Amino acid sequence: MINPLRGMKDLTFEESQRFTHIIDTATRIAQRYGYSYIETPILEETALFKRSVGESSDIVGKEMYQFEDKGGNDVCMRPEGTAGVVRAFISAKLDRQPVKQKFYYYGPMFRYERPQKGRLREFHQFGCESFGEASVYEDFTIITMISQIFNELGIGFDLQINSLGCKVCMPRYKENLIASLTDIKEELCEDCNRRIGTNPIRVLDCKNEKCRLLLAESPKLIDYLCEECDPDFKKLTALLDKAGISYEVNSNLVRGLDYYGKTAFEFVSNEIGAQSAIAGGGRYDRLVEFLDGKPTPAVGFAIGIERIMELVQMPEVQREGIYMGAMTEEAVEVLFPLAAEKRKESKVTVEYNSKGFKSHMKGADKANAKYCLLIGEDELKNGTVWVKDLESKEEKTVLREAF
Ligand SMILES: [Zn+2]
Ligand SMILES: [Zn+2]
Repeated sequence: MINPLRGMKDLTFEESQRFTHIIDTATRIAQRYGYSYIETPILEETALFKRSVGESSDIVGKEMYQFEDKGGNDVCMRPEGTAGVVRAFISAKLDRQPVKQKFYYYGPMFRYERPQKGRLREFHQFGCESFGEASVYEDFTIITMISQIFNELGIGFDLQINSLGCKVCMPRYKENLIASLTDIKEELCEDCNRRIGTNPIRVLDCKNEKCRLLLAESPKLIDYLCEECDPDFKKLTALLDKAGISYEVNSNLVRGLDYYGKTAFEFVSNEIGAQSAIAGGGRYDRLVEFLDGKPTPAVGFAIGIERIMELVQMPEVQREGIYMGAMTEEAVEVLFPLAAEKRKESKVTVEYNSKGFKSHMKGADKANAKYCLLIGEDELKNGTVWVKDLESKEEKTVLREAF
């Protein structure tokens, strides 16, 4: 017997219904906000992720499904969705058009890490990327959209926000941060010490309990924001207040990549272990330029589907469609043209084996059909069908054409 690979799994029955419900809900809402669907390849040149996600990140450094294809190309299965969408945006020369573009996507992502609960090697994300709008109003709109998605899915969340500044305020802050980190260097963990030299902002992200306590006193970027970033961040918080979306400013919410700036946010749930992120995103105004496109402001997010699978409140299942059954062998074939006609507008389940009345009624119930339609000897002779509405329990015999 061949099993799925470690960290990968099949989605069936109840789980696949949850998956579909999440994607359908998110899609419907994204479309209402003017997003259109984009599909990009799962396999991309490794260079794309090295440049966008960053070579110093764990994702690129340790977790990529990277290999040489038969043509000798260095390729990689996407570990996240944004890089591919930005690459597609530039490949289609959309960066040369003055029109704003909004895309949503969903699909599998791959990271070779140690599988654990809610963390698979093949996992799925739903994401949106909005290009060409520099205003903080767009950041607010995106946060509103994600809140709406979670609300409709019945998922509670805490929202954390931060500003990562820009190329004016970030360097100024970085200098102060490095100075303060150097003071407590000896007490910080090995990872932190390595990062002080390579990516000091990421030190703030350290999960080590001792480091976290020490870092609580470090300078906060929020206190160093420039004349542009500071009013933008205040505008965002004021808009969220007004919309009744509660949030917490988390100054340790960082990305540590140069092209991320200004708004950063994370939606967190307490229901799947301690404070797990269920969605994250923010502004990445310099990524398009980073990947050789024309400078284009952009903001986006991704939702981790596996993270929210068990949190979703599924809508009550309604009876739907028609169950068709024959009580004699000759009646079976009469059902096909009838089923073909009805399938133009509703779901139809045809039972190919002729059975008794009770057994058909059980079948209709199992199919969760709204109507049970049966043809027996009498109906066959008279050109009629027997129909029962399984909700109102009303039954009747009508001409085949009249049904
Ligand atoms: Zn700034
Ligand atoms: Zn540390």
